[in-house]
Amino acid sequence: MRVRRSYVVSGFSRTVLCGDVRVNATLQFGMPKTEDEWKETLNPDQFYVLRKHGTEPPGSSALNAEKRHGTFKCAGCGQPLFSSDSKFESGTGWPSFSAPLGHAVETSTDRSLFMTRIEVHCAGCGGHLGHEFPDGPPPTGKRYCMNGVALKFEPEDQA
Ligand SMILES: [Zn+2]
Repeated sequence: MRVRRSYVVSGFSRTVLCGDVRVNATLQFGMPKTEDEWKETLNPDQFYVLRKHGTEPPGSSALNAEKRHGTFKCAGCGQPLFSSDSKFESGTGWPSFSAPLGHAVETSTDRSLFMTRIEVHCAGCGGHLGHEFPDGPPPTGKRYCMNGVALKFEPEDQA
């Protein structure tokens, strides 16, 4: 395990690693940054959500009202996470999506706050993004309830 772990840390693509270390890779995320390094690159709100599993107040993100075509990327590492095509108005006060882009996110079980929820992380940097719920619209029936502060919106070229 120690040898494999060093491969992850040295930045090899996870596809090089075989399925049996996927759980380990989920925890390592191949892009190690120290807490101090994250504090330098993220603002305090982003740090609280992405690195401390925080939740922004509902209705606080300007991305709730974002209706343009484009891509929502991770505020931590820039990985594209969601297309505007999957965004929908959930009425929750958090930006909500029915499906992530392929391999963009990973999930884990979150048993905090006396609930069992599916936590959604960025597959690139492991940053906490929000939670997945089974009450979304078709075709997936899923609702990816995201913290807007963990996302950066990049509009498509208006040309
Ligand atoms: Zn990320």
